[in-house]
Amino acid sequence: MHAIRVAALSFRALIATKLGACALCIRLSLTLSVVSWLLLVVINALVPGSLAAKLALVPALAFAALFASHLAAYAVRVLVAYGRAGRVASGLHLLGKPRGVSAFVTRGFNCIALP
Ligand SMILES: [Zn+2]
Repeated sequence: MHAIRVAALSFRALIATKLGACALCIRLSLTLSVVSWLLLVVINALVPGSLAAKLALVPALAFAALFASHLAAYAVRVLVAYGRAGRVASGLHLLGKPRGVSAFVTRGFNCIALP
């Protein structure tokens, strides 16, 4: 039971640190997704409708799902960081603008624009 809990925590840590955060892993998942879809196309062209073509669909879908998860996690991370930057920009607006950073507030939506 303890081993399962440790494995679950380690998996969670892996997801938290890698999913949508590591450029190498995002690129690798995209590359593997493209390669597996190309492999599926080639196998389907050589032996259409065979068991091999159906089996080649499994990694193609898995890598596509992994890449989509990376993109979704990246989007969430960017939105959270943007929200934090907005709060920072709002604070900067009150304190005055530092050099090189233009902070502005539009219709209640805080924005920060870096040069
Ligand atoms: Zn990585």
